[in-house]
Amino acid sequence: MAEQPMLKFVTVPRVMPEKREATVRKEDFREIYAEYAEAKAKEQSSRCSQCGVPYCQSHCPLHNNIPDWLRLTAEGRLQEAYEVSQATNTFPEICGRICPQDRLCEGNCVIEQSGHGTVTIGAVEKYITDTAWEKGWVMPISPRQERPESVGIIGAGPGGLAAADVLRRAGVQVTVYDRYDRAGGLMTYGIPGFKLEKDIVTRRNAQLEQGGVTFKLNCTVGQDIAFDDIRSAHDAVVIATGVYKSRDIEAPGVGAQGLVRAIDFLTASNRKSFGDAVPEFDSGALNAHGKRVVVIGGGDTAMDCVRTSVRQGATSVKCLYRRDRANMPGSQREVANAEEEGVIFEWLSAPKGFVGDPITGVMVQKMRLGAPDATGRQSPEVIDGADYIEEADLVIMALGFEPEALPTLWDQPDLPVTRWGTIKTEYMSGATQMQGVYAVGDIVRGASLVVWAIKDGRDCAEAILERFGAASIAAE
Ligand SMILES: Cc1cc2nc3c(=O)[nH]c(=O)nc-3n(C[C@H](O)[C@H](O)[C@H](O)COP(=O)(O)OP(=O)(O)OC[C@H]3O[C@@H](n4cnc5c(N)ncnc54)[C@H](O)[C@@H]3O)c2cc1C
Ligand code: SF4
Repeated sequence: MAEQPMLKFVTVPRVMPEKREATVRKEDFREIYAEYAEAKAKEQSSRCSQCGVPYCQSHCPLHNNIPDWLRLTAEGRLQEAYEVSQATNTFPEICGRICPQDRLCEGNCVIEQSGHGTVTIGAVEKYITDTAWEKGWVMPISPRQERPESVGIIGAGPGGLAAADVLRRAGVQVTVYDRYDRAGGLMTYGIPGFKLEKDIVTRRNAQLEQGGVTFKLNCTVGQDIAFDDIRSAHDAVVIATGVYKSRDIEAPGVGAQGLVRAIDFLTASNRKSFGDAVPEFDSGALNAHGKRVVVIGGGDTAMDCVRTSVRQGATSVKCLYRRDRANMPGSQREVANAEEEGVIFEWLSAPKGFVGDPITGVMVQKMRLGAPDATGRQSPEVIDGADYIEEADLVIMALGFEPEALPTLWDQPDLPVTRWGTIKTEYMSGATQMQGVYAVGDIVRGASLVVWAIKDGRDCAEAILERFGAASIAAE
C-alpha cells in the first residue's frame, strides 16, 4: 500500500478554565487551517456517509452540493470537486475559512449527530478552492458578449461583489462604488487576517477588476456622489452598504480615553497588516500591546477582538458577557479557540461604568438569568451587591451594529426601511419599492454572515438579469 504523507498537527496546551488568572500565550496559536494536506481532505471527505438526507446541504445558505464534492474529493477528482463547489458559491475559499460551520453545514452533519465528529466540510471546501487557484483551474471572468445595460452597486462587501460577479459574467456593465480605499467590505477591514488572510480577498477583487468590473473607491455615496446621480447613471442600482453604526452603552465613564469601538480597533489592526500608516495604532490608542484588555460582548466580533488582542501582545485579555456560555450569540468554536489562547471569559457579567480617564478599570455587575423574554431567551438580571472592578488599560466595546439612516443620509425619503432601519425588500430578488433599486446583505438582514450576503447578491443579480431579459451564466 502506498505510504500516506505525514500530517503535521499543531499541539496546543489548554489553559484550564479553573485557572482564573489571565495568561495569554504569545506564540504557537492554533491557526485552524495551518496544515491541511490532500490526504487529510481525502480522509475527511471519505468519512461522508452519502446519507441521502443531506442536512448539511439544506443548512448551507447557498445549498452547496456538499455530498457530491466530498465524494469527488475522496476519489481524488479535485478539479471536478472544485467545479461542483464553485457552481453555487462565488467565494468558496472564503466561506470555507470563515463560515460558522458549527451552526450551519457541519452542525447538521449526520455523522456529527451520531456522535462521531463532523466531516470538516468547510476545511475541504477551502482546500479544493485553494488548490484550484494554485493549479490554474479558476477561470478569469470573460463574458461571451457585452450587454448594453449597466448596474451600479453601492458597497464592495461580499453582497455587492457576489452580485457584481454574476452580472459581469452575463456581460452587464458593472460599477462598484465604495467609501473605503480597498474592496472587500468587512472581509477586508473587519474580519482579522488570522481567520481570513487578506491576499485571499485581494485576489478575488483583482479577478473582478480584470473581468471588467469598474471600482470607484474612496467614494462615499451621499457625500462624494449623490444617490440620485448613481440611479440616473445606471439601469439598476444595488445597495450593499452593510451595517456600521456601533451600538453604544450609556454608563458613567463613557468617553474616557482607552474605551474604544470594536470596528475601530479591528480596522486599525487590518490596516496595519496592509502596511498602511495608522497613527492611532502607533500611538497605542488602538493597540493592545502590553495592556490589560477587557472586551465587552459575546458575539463573533468580540471573539475577533479578544483573539486580535492576544496576537498584539496584550498582557491579559478578558471578555465580559452578560449571559452565560450556552446563551452567547458567538460561535462556540471561536470561544474554544480563544480559551486555548489564554482568554478568560467572565460569563454573567455586565459593565456598570468605567473607572479613570485614561481608563483603569470596568465596574462590573454580576448577573443571573431570569424569566424568558418574548423571544424565549432568558433575560439577564442584576445580582445586587456583587459588583466589582475589573482592572483594564484598554476596553473594547463589541456590542453589535445597526444600520445607518440611509434615507436621511442620501436624501431618499422613499427608500423603504423597517423599524430597525434595515432596507425593506422583496423576498429573494432584493427589489425595493423604488423602481430599479435593490438591496442585499447586512443592510437588509441586519448584522449577519458573509455566506448570507453572497446568497443575497447572487439571487438579486439573477433577478436583475431576468428583468434585462438576459441569461445567467453564474456557474461558468
Ligand atoms: C468583526 C467582524 C467579524 C466578522 N466575522 C465573520 C465571520 O467570521 N464569518 C462570517 O460569515 N461573517 C462574519 N462577519 C459578518 C460579515 O462580515 C458580514 O455579514 C458581511 O460582510 C456583510 O456583507 P455586506 O456585503 O452586506 O456588507 P459589508 O461587508 O459591510 O460591506 C459593505 C461595504 O459598503 C461600503 N459602504 C457603506 N456605506 C457606503 C456609502 N455610503 N458609500 C459607499 N460605500 C459604502 C462599506 O465601505 C463596505 O465596504 C463579521 C463581521 C464583523 C464586524
Ligand atoms: S458555504 Fe459555509 S455553510 Fe455552506 S458548505 Fe461552505 S462552509 Fe458550509
